[in-house]
Amino acid sequence: KEEKEVVEKSSILGSLEQELHKRMLDDRIREMFYLVHSKAIENSTKTLMENQMISLMGLSAKLEKLEGSEDERIKERSKITERIMKSIEKLQNPESCKDANTLVCNLDKECGFGCQLHHVTYCAITAFATKRMMILKRDGSSWKYSSRGWTSVFEPISKCTFDEAVGNAELKPFADPSPARVVSLGIVDSLLTKPAFLPQAVPEQFLETLHSLHSHPPAFFVGTFISYLMRFNSETKEKLEAALKAIPFDQGPVVGLQIRRTDKVGTEAAFHALKEYMEWTEIWFKVEEKRLGKALERKVFIASDDPTVVPEAQKDYPAYKVYGSTEIAKTAQLNNRYTDASLMGVITDIYILSKVDYLVCTFSSQVCRMGYELRQPSGSDDGSKFHSLDDIYYFGGQQAHEVVAIEDHVAQNNQEIDLKVGDKVGIAGNHWNGYSKGTNRRTYKEGVFPSYKVVNDWRRFNFEALLD
Ligand code: GDP
Repeated sequence: KEEKEVVEKSSILGSLEQELHKRMLDDRIREMFYLVHSKAIENSTKTLMENQMISLMGLSAKLEKLEGSEDERIKERSKITERIMKSIEKLQNPESCKDANTLVCNLDKECGFGCQLHHVTYCAITAFATKRMMILKRDGSSWKYSSRGWTSVFEPISKCTFDEAVGNAELKPFADPSPARVVSLGIVDSLLTKPAFLPQAVPEQFLETLHSLHSHPPAFFVGTFISYLMRFNSETKEKLEAALKAIPFDQGPVVGLQIRRTDKVGTEAAFHALKEYMEWTEIWFKVEEKRLGKALERKVFIASDDPTVVPEAQKDYPAYKVYGSTEIAKTAQLNNRYTDASLMGVITDIYILSKVDYLVCTFSSQVCRMGYELRQPSGSDDGSKFHSLDDIYYFGGQQAHEVVAIEDHVAQNNQEIDLKVGDKVGIAGNHWNGYSKGTNRRTYKEGVFPSYKVVNDWRRFNFEALLD
């Protein structure tokens, strides 16, 4: 049996380079598409070029499935998810609650659901990295979204209660290391120095394997914590299953749109018209048609805090079947937001966004990022199944996201920066026009450069709590 496992492992790792090249090819075609798509070129030439690239993207997606080892890779990814889950469960359920090293997390960060859950995820990763059990302050009983607290929608995060684990112990501020049995974690925004375990760090124990199996290892790792935290209680599960059933997922692919408007627009993000979301939706359907070699019915699920978008899509896109709830969107606006109905609404939207075949949204919204993260530990590689109209993926408070140059670049104008192979660049964003912006760590110069000339340089950390 051992021999068989060694052979299986080596066949997976043996294809590491091939896997990476396949993904790079896919990325490069997409970057080329962004470049052409953003240019003012004569119409018929542009259409011809875009159609050729759509055909190439379809071919590239086809290769993934034709290769035949996808089942094996699903198994390997699921094994990693299970390993992380089991390790979290072990730490969260110690033999003695009153003796366990504990980290207290305050659920009530002053912000929306996505932001609060990301804060709890930050607590969970910090607790995991420092081998502590994480406990919600007063078990999350005072939650502005629900007077019934955390367990109104989720399973408890530990068999230990706040009283059992913390009792009257003094809450010392978190430090690493700290001799205190109980520590309390502040918000990530208040950190002066960023610990090495912060996202987007990936456990060094399996970074190499995961790199060959998944196109976004950090989102996969974060997503596993989110799916541990968002273990729905039976009442929530029932409601979510009913919401899912209302969308015919068994009858071909569904693209999920998350359209964040109202209080976010003009403060933290720019307005994007429905047309922009639909444009990228249509491109994805065309690529998918090339991959499958058949016509596809157009179906979209729309999550939003703006009740006007579902009716607008139904009216302006008659070729599309549009799913989504105007009622949920009404509960999502700021003056209705902190209620049980709104909580169930945002959970339903995030859950469905984690089940769609492709995601179009603005990654500036934590609601969309949660849908994206939650889908990652599913077994398949969904790391690149999205189009963000603004930011690239990030985790609030993360360590600097760096990429490394794999081709030299000579700046063509004063907006651009030079790159030499091996240069590290702190990345600020992708302009979705073939260019990204960043700061070259060697020259300290900030500017744009062709996105295809760099690859991600993921950070690694030794998470000792990870079981074998
Ligand atoms: P962000 O402000 O978009 O980054 O996300 P937050 O989750 O931090 O705060 C926004 C809050 O508005 C959410 O938690 C929801 O309560 C509500 N909201 C925003 N967008 C949606 C949506 O698409 N669907 C639902 N149901 N609620 C939303």
